[in-house]
Amino acid sequence: MVEVRLDAVSKVFARSGDPAVDKVDLTIRDGEFFTLLGPSGCGKTTTLRMVAGFYFPSSGRIFFGSDDVTRQAPNKRDTGMVFQNYALFPHLSVAQNVGYGLRTRKVRGTEAKRRIDEALEQVHLAGYGSRRIDQLSGGQQQRVALARALVIRPRTLLLDEPLSNLDAKLREETRLEIRRIQREASTTSIYVTHDQAEAMAMSDRIAVMSGGTVQQVGAPEEIYRRPANRFVATFIGRSNVLSLPVVGAGPEHVDVAGPDGVTLRAAAPEGHGLGETATALVSVRPEHVRLTGPDAAGALRATVVETEFTGMSTHVSVDLAGTPLHVAAVQLPAGLSSGDTVGVVLPPEHLWVVRP
Ligand code: ADP
Ligand code: MG
Repeated sequence: MVEVRLDAVSKVFARSGDPAVDKVDLTIRDGEFFTLLGPSGCGKTTTLRMVAGFYFPSSGRIFFGSDDVTRQAPNKRDTGMVFQNYALFPHLSVAQNVGYGLRTRKVRGTEAKRRIDEALEQVHLAGYGSRRIDQLSGGQQQRVALARALVIRPRTLLLDEPLSNLDAKLREETRLEIRRIQREASTTSIYVTHDQAEAMAMSDRIAVMSGGTVQQVGAPEEIYRRPANRFVATFIGRSNVLSLPVVGAGPEHVDVAGPDGVTLRAAAPEGHGLGETATALVSVRPEHVRLTGPDAAGALRATVVETEFTGMSTHVSVDLAGTPLHVAAVQLPAGLSSGDTVGVVLPPEHLWVVRP
């Protein structure tokens, strides 16, 4: 258990290329479950590998508590790692796999056996010690990998897309399981995923990354409700972002001319700096846009482009005066189809100004 701090950490692989990780500042609190979330190639794995010690930063510093570990070898850092492909030894038993890190730390005999049993119990695999790895399901194999990481009682637990090889249902079960185990062990954990639903469900806090940089850090709800910029708004939950002319502004709101010219008020972060003549980026989530009849009071007229039934809701793409808008509707007007004219309502309480 320890606080992990990254101070302006960068990694440049090729002398001429862009940094894979660019001046990242992060503080992961003691005992926290912290997620690096972003699209493929945004620098998540590289960041995690620098925390583990598999890469050294090109610049910047990494601290575990007050220890500067920036250039410390991986085996000196007391980190437990869990990977997407489990990286288990197929020819060893479950117990031998879990005990691997103990052998290299010279923990042997009854003490080793006790620690292995305890770790297997932690991941709900008590009694599986003598099984062969290929006798286990994917989810069980990933729990063995977790036990192997935890058995050394690491100061930090680092997990790189550990659920990616599991099918959807098992992924949801296993993420709950990982979170339970992490809570019980209260090990400071850094979790890497490109899956925003997974990040939302599991994390105490999330850092959203893009192009090697951190775009926003916050609790899931904060990032969802108050995305800092266009990237975060559209990456998390597919927000609509409308460019609208500012007609007035206050410290925590702006008034914008809506697509039909009617003024809309949107909440805005303090210090937004937007005034008349500026253009504001106003985000609104698909599930917050309301569909009505075309002639309903206060509704904007739009044309249905396509509808997609997803089970829980129907995803409706509409054209709003030339601007595409995504709507997630739990209940649809009966018989709605492409080309129909509908009304859309953008509820002011759900309008939020984001930075470019
Ligand atoms: P993510 O895990 O978010 O998908 P990575 O950290 O793996 O992203 O990669 C970030 C960027 O760094 C990518 O552009 C990738 O191609 C590059 N990269 C990663 N590892 C290496 C490496 N060992 N050598 C050169 N480039 C790398
Ligand atoms: Mg990766």
